[in-house]
Amino acid sequence: MFNRLARAILGTSNDRMLKAYRKRVPAIAGHEPAMKALSDEALAAKTVEFRDRLATGATLDDLLPEAFAVVREAAVRVLGQRHFDVQMIGGMVLHEGRIAEMKTGEGKTLVATLPAYLNALSGKGVHVVTVNDYLAKRDAAWMGRVYGFLGLTTGVIVHGLTDDERRAAYAADITYGTNNEFGFDYLRDNMKYRFEDMVQRDFSFAIVDEVDSILIDEARTPLIISGPADDSSELYRQVDAVVRVLVEDPETYEKDEKMRTVSLTEAGTERAEQMLREAGVLKDGNLYDIGNIAAVHHMNQSVRAHTLYRLDVDYVVRRDPRDNVQKIVIIDEFTGRMMEGRRYSDGLHQALEAKEGVPVQQENQTLASITFQNYFRLYPKLSGMTGTASTEADEFAEIYKLEVVEIPTNVAVARKDHDDEVYRSAREKYEAVIHEIEEARARNQPVLMGTTSIEKSEQVAALLRERNIPHNVLNARFHEQEATIIVQAGRPGAVTVATNMAGRGTDIQLGGNADMRIALELGGMEDGPEKEARAQAIRDEVAANREIVKAAGGLYVIGTERHESRRIDNQLRGRSGRQGDPGASKFFLSLEDDLMRIFGSDRMGGMLQKLGLKEGEAIVHAWINKALEKAQKKVEARNFDTRKNLLKYDNVMNDQRREVYAQRKEFMKAEDVAATVAEMREEVISDLVGSAIPENAMPEQWNTDTLHEETLRLFGLDLPVKDWAAEEGIDDEGVRERITREVDGLMAKKAADFGPDLMRYVEKSVLLQVLDQVWKEHLLALDHLRQGIGLRAYGQRDPLNEYKTEAFTLFNRMLTELRERTTSLLARVQLAPPAPPPEFAPQMTETRIDPAFAGGMDGGTEAGVIERPALRREANGVDPADPSTWHRTPRNAACPCGSGKKYKHCHGKV
Ligand code: ADP
Ligand code: MG
Repeated sequence: MFNRLARAILGTSNDRMLKAYRKRVPAIAGHEPAMKALSDEALAAKTVEFRDRLATGATLDDLLPEAFAVVREAAVRVLGQRHFDVQMIGGMVLHEGRIAEMKTGEGKTLVATLPAYLNALSGKGVHVVTVNDYLAKRDAAWMGRVYGFLGLTTGVIVHGLTDDERRAAYAADITYGTNNEFGFDYLRDNMKYRFEDMVQRDFSFAIVDEVDSILIDEARTPLIISGPADDSSELYRQVDAVVRVLVEDPETYEKDEKMRTVSLTEAGTERAEQMLREAGVLKDGNLYDIGNIAAVHHMNQSVRAHTLYRLDVDYVVRRDPRDNVQKIVIIDEFTGRMMEGRRYSDGLHQALEAKEGVPVQQENQTLASITFQNYFRLYPKLSGMTGTASTEADEFAEIYKLEVVEIPTNVAVARKDHDDEVYRSAREKYEAVIHEIEEARARNQPVLMGTTSIEKSEQVAALLRERNIPHNVLNARFHEQEATIIVQAGRPGAVTVATNMAGRGTDIQLGGNADMRIALELGGMEDGPEKEARAQAIRDEVAANREIVKAAGGLYVIGTERHESRRIDNQLRGRSGRQGDPGASKFFLSLEDDLMRIFGSDRMGGMLQKLGLKEGEAIVHAWINKALEKAQKKVEARNFDTRKNLLKYDNVMNDQRREVYAQRKEFMKAEDVAATVAEMREEVISDLVGSAIPENAMPEQWNTDTLHEETLRLFGLDLPVKDWAAEEGIDDEGVRERITREVDGLMAKKAADFGPDLMRYVEKSVLLQVLDQVWKEHLLALDHLRQGIGLRAYGQRDPLNEYKTEAFTLFNRMLTELRERTTSLLARVQLAPPAPPPEFAPQMTETRIDPAFAGGMDGGTEAGVIERPALRREANGVDPADPSTWHRTPRNAACPCGSGKKYKHCHGKV
């Protein structure tokens, strides 16, 4: 109560911010007359002038008013659209690295031109991020005309471009593209071997369109590049043999059928430890020591395979007719159908294969991955725009340091948002919806019906078909066709069924969209008077239809269920009533809806009872809207918490990735890495001597055997260390010097044999390849660690802290490995004979994992990996015909020469 009062008197912080922005608008308008007076050439020349001023000390902020005026004038000349004042505010908000909440139809595409132009003046490249290829192309072509007029270049990154095309697009002043493409390019760049092969420049500024969708809904979706993993089928079989015996005793484990989890009891853990050690699977130490992460992971999966997954219920064993190999095929628990080709992830499928004694298929392993959340946090300056952000303002602030500014509409919203209607059952609800649609159609009012899933959109469509109501169904699968349908969803009497994401970014205009219809219907016609006449007829018809629809009340948005998140509901509502158009919205609900069942409190049930809900009748009451909003807020908060918690784990890997990628880039850029590898060599020798010769130890106490073995293993040098130890007056320092001298001699000879150019090349490529290899192994170890960590969170220990400590230990181990392997490989590298002609190329796969299916904290994934075929592609650009590309082959992939051997054992062998 007090809050409301205080706000009425003092205004909200948003009001105060808006007021400050508003004050700055007249300064921009002040430049307008001068701009109008300029010729086209003189207006374009402003770009050059601005750049000069920047070079001589002006800041972007200094230039803002005049630069925005230049863009406004250019848009008037090129597009015939003059940025509204509220759009100027939006531009300033974006420039300052905030989120501009502007309703659908407010012209956010045009808003982005202001900060994009201004920031591109610095020459560092601006990225404008859209949700799909169709929108990236559309916006780049549309707004590119404004930039081009002002002498700036525009690039667009879409699916299927070559690296050269990508590099060119990233070199442009302003680059449009989808979040997927930007993210995958980042990952692929960091797997390359030469700096000049990278396609992206350093990040500077990104404007993310539909920012809530990308940074909240899709935030947790990891982009993954994977390749075949090392063969660990033997390990699966060994572990299986142990677990098979272990689980015969039901005392060893506890399972929860409903949650599909199983864990070993304390007795079980002890047994397992002992048996695994006997089987030679465990390295020394106990089960939960860091060196045994992989073994524990495999064991957990095997226990699940043996105790939770039943043959002929959850899966079948079937001979695959294509290759005549016995395979495990998953059975869909709802439909009972066999899901050919689907595999459980995280090694569970392999564990089942071992259990059933069929060949264990090779795993795919993550080579690189990043979530959108972490990708976008890489930009020094980030901004976003959307119609719906304020409900998630806390999350934007806390996770991305992005402040949301709600910007008022250009024209007041005239849409009427009705209270929800609640029915007893889903059947009655849909009955009412159909009735409502029939009435709307009778008065020529177009209807947009929102559903919460593809499945439900299809159910609704079936009902409409039964009643012979013509309609279109959109479910966010085919963006381009969708845009052509949704753009016409405002025609008189049109009925369009959509999921909440479908057609996002495409504007629904009342009466339809004349330009789109002309392009579609007259696209094949030759330009001339005849075409113009028909185009005019279409324009007239659309204009007339617009009047009809306005008279009928504008676009009517019908929601068939409340979404978990208010934001998604608002997004749907916002489809109607753009730019002051008439419109209406109403949600039809039933007590059987998910949100009502799960989160509607018992009190709501009681309340409805009291109000007396009868068959076929609805209850409409403001109280219900409030109660639902409360339930939604609860779910939103819970989801935010989950995301926040997961992020804490992500951050650990994220920090390490940044460090590794930065280091890697340094290596790539460097003229040579001789100094780095020499340092590594020194450290390896120091470590070796340090571990074999304890401090202040007498030569008799030295571990000369280890010293001898290790110098042989690491450098291929057979040194008389035993004799050295027998010498008078020798100490560890003396031994270190002698080994160093020997190794330096070896390396000097090698350098002389190879010559400086080849040596430079060899050092660099060995270093990069080893780095990739150990990083990849490290990723897998982290994965296993994360999944196992829950099991270790006994007692007082905080799992996150445990995870951090162990991840740090693993990272240090990775660095030691890097030094050792690099040093050792370089000491052993030989000139290879020329290669025979190649035959085929190995493949890498790019995947986005649906977060709902990604591995949870509880040790595994039920549903497995959803590979989205559209995102699958050959990533590495290995051309078998061109040996100079072979270095891109993943180490464990088949060698492109066609030998049938793994690359690392064939041409990748250094
Ligand atoms: P949003 O992304 O905010 O939903 P769009 O960028 O798709 O909106 O723009 C909606 C429509 O408004 C487009 O047809 C666009 O051409 C038009 N529009 C945007 N700004 C202006 C303007 N300043 N003057 C006239 N039309 C505009
Ligand atoms: Mg848009």
